[in-house]
Amino acid sequence: MTRIIDGKAISAQIKEELKVRVSELKKEGKDICLAVIQVGSDPASSVYVNNKKRACEFIGIRSLSYELEENTSEEKLLEMIHELNDRADVNGILVQLPLPEHINEDKILKAIHPKKDVDGFHPQNVGALCIGELGFVSCTPAGIIQLLKRSGVEIEGKECVIIGRSNIVGKPMAMLLLRENGTVTVTHSRTRNLKEVCRRADILVVAIGKPKMITKEYVKEGAVVIDVGIHRNENNKLCGDVDYDDVAPICSAITPVPGGVGPMTIAMLMHNCVESIKLQ
Ligand code: NAD
Repeated sequence: MTRIIDGKAISAQIKEELKVRVSELKKEGKDICLAVIQVGSDPASSVYVNNKKRACEFIGIRSLSYELEENTSEEKLLEMIHELNDRADVNGILVQLPLPEHINEDKILKAIHPKKDVDGFHPQNVGALCIGELGFVSCTPAGIIQLLKRSGVEIEGKECVIIGRSNIVGKPMAMLLLRENGTVTVTHSRTRNLKEVCRRADILVVAIGKPKMITKEYVKEGAVVIDVGIHRNENNKLCGDVDYDDVAPICSAITPVPGGVGPMTIAMLMHNCVESIKLQ
């Protein structure tokens, strides 16, 4: 029988654990504070920002909210980040993406102090991950490792195939699976014989950004399938990069969309905020 990996339940468990940890830290006089910056009022971004603020509240992390006008200059945003970098009471800084076109995203992400970069996007943290040093890890792939571990999926020695090589999912995912002693293959839009490569996988992580592209022809019987994609289909219902109804019957475990990887991203952001105390 196919096991449904319940990201909602696992993320709730992680948030409960973090809540306990935060209350212990409070007793030691350590308060955690996350600054969240949103530029413009993109509705999807506002939903993400509100979810992050709600998670902070639940766990006992103080959140500072900065809602800037769409036409805020890059200079002004950089100035704000520098100020937050210097503030001893701020542990984490998060700039909600995407940013308006006139702002250079790369420049902004690099301006966040690596020790406050709770999204794990700064090159210093990416480098730390590559060489196995302590640092913040990108939340979505870190969440996937938690999903696998807490569902009892062994990674060591397994054939792990990732579809997608983005900086925030595919590449850090490869590093994390490697750290867990998986045998890792990263595939992308120029990969030849994608179906054959994917059919080698014991663990298949799909982060393509194409609704329902992965059908059972890409999946080995008994594989564990992790679907990172999030899309709205023609009926306004959420779906992933995996054609769930087609694939689920042949795999041993699969993440649904919604309720799989999605909730883990915020849980791991909260984890990173709590970890920031160790790094600072
Ligand atoms: P991206 O667009 O940055 O990267 C997509 C990758 O897929 C690229 O590396 C590309 O080479 C590869 N690709 C594209 N077409 C392909 C094809 N036909 N065959 C093989 N590979 C192909 O996307 P991303 O930021 O990594 O996100 C991927 C998906 O995950 C999106 O649907 C996104 O919305 C979702 N996502 C979800 C979460 C979450 O919290 N659940 C977080 C981040 C991203």
